[in-house]
Amino acid sequence: LIKEVPKTPGKPRHKTREVQIGEKCIGGGNPILVQSMTTTDTFDVEATVKQIHALEEAGCEMVRVTVPKPEDAGALGRIREQIGIPLICDIHFDYKMALQALDHPVDKIRINPGNIGGYDRFRQVVRRAKERGIPMRIGVNAGSLERELVEKYEFPCPPAMVESAIRYIEMAEEEGYHQMVVSLKSSDVLTVVEAYRLYAQLCDYPTHIGVTEAGKPPYAVTKSAAGLSPILLDGIGDTIRISLLGDPVPEIGAAFDILQATQRRVRKPELIACPTCGRLAIDLEKIIAELEKRLEGKRTPVKISVLGCVVNGPGEAREADIGIAAGNGKGVIFRNGEIVRHVLEAEMVDALLEEIQLWETNNKDK
Ligand code: SF4
Repeated sequence: LIKEVPKTPGKPRHKTREVQIGEKCIGGGNPILVQSMTTTDTFDVEATVKQIHALEEAGCEMVRVTVPKPEDAGALGRIREQIGIPLICDIHFDYKMALQALDHPVDKIRINPGNIGGYDRFRQVVRRAKERGIPMRIGVNAGSLERELVEKYEFPCPPAMVESAIRYIEMAEEEGYHQMVVSLKSSDVLTVVEAYRLYAQLCDYPTHIGVTEAGKPPYAVTKSAAGLSPILLDGIGDTIRISLLGDPVPEIGAAFDILQATQRRVRKPELIACPTCGRLAIDLEKIIAELEKRLEGKRTPVKISVLGCVVNGPGEAREADIGIAAGNGKGVIFRNGEIVRHVLEAEMVDALLEEIQLWETNNKDK
C-alpha cells in the first residue's frame, strides 16, 4: 500500500518569458489571460467595436480581429481607440497584409507560418514587427502545416507541429526578435495535448492554448475542456482561447470555467453541489439556483459546498471554505472545517451569503 500520498497543489507552471501585449503581459508566471476573436467584418468598425465591448463585458482580456483586406487594416486604429483591451490582428496567406497591418496601431500580430508564403516573407514580417515593437504569435495549425513537414512525418503529428514552430522561432531569433507567443492548435484533442507537452520541454516562449475548430457548444466546450485540462494541469498555457461556433461571448465564460476547474485561475466562487438522489433532505436545486443568482458577478475565490443529506454533507462541508451539511429541512454550517451555526432550510441562502461576506472580510489581504 502507498503509505504517504503527497498533497500537492498541482504541477508548477511551465517557466516562460514574459511578453508585453499592450498593457497586459503574457507568460512569466502572470495570470493566464482569456482571449477571443470577433466574427464581424473588421472594416465594419461599429459592429466590431460593439462585439468587442460585449466580450469585454464578459471578461475578455485580449481580442483578435481578422485582417484579410486593406480596408480591414485601415479600420484597426479606429477600433483600437474605442476599446479597453489589447487588439490583435490575425493574418493568413498574405504577408503584405501583415506588413500593412503592422503600420497601424495594433498590440500583437498573429501569423500562421504554414501559409504566409515562405521563409523570406516571414522574415520580412518579423523585421517590420521588430521595428514597430509589436509582439507576434507564431500560430501553428495542424490543418495548414508546411507541406515539407507533413511529407517528412507523413501526417501533421505533434513533432511536425513543434518542428514548424521551432523553425520559425529560430528564424525570428536570427533577426534579433524575441517578442513571441506560440500556439500549436489542432481539432484533434490528443494532438493538441501532445504538441504542447513536447513544445514545453523544448521552448520557453509563452503559449496560447486552444483546441481549434472545436465546433458547436455544448460539445465544443466539453471537447475544449478535454484537450486543455491536461495541458493546464501540466502547468502549460499563458493565454487561452476557446473556439466556439457562433457568438464569441460564451467563449469567455467557458475559458474561465476551465481555468477555474483546473485551479489555474480562480476568479469566482466555486459551488460544490451533489447530484441529489432519493436521500435528499432539502430542496437543493432551489437553493443552488438562488445562490448562483445572488453570487452572480462576485469575484471571490471561495469554495462553497452544499450537499443534500448527511451521507457526504459533513465531509464535503469540512473540506470547503464554507459548507452546509443538510439534514431533514435544516443544516449545519461549517467555516474552515469548524461548525459555526445551525440553520433552517429557509435561512440557508441568507446564512451562506453572510458567511461569504465574513470570509471576504477575513481574507481581504491574503
Ligand atoms: Fe444523495 Fe445525499 Fe449524496 Fe446528495 S449527498 S447525492 S442527497 S446521498
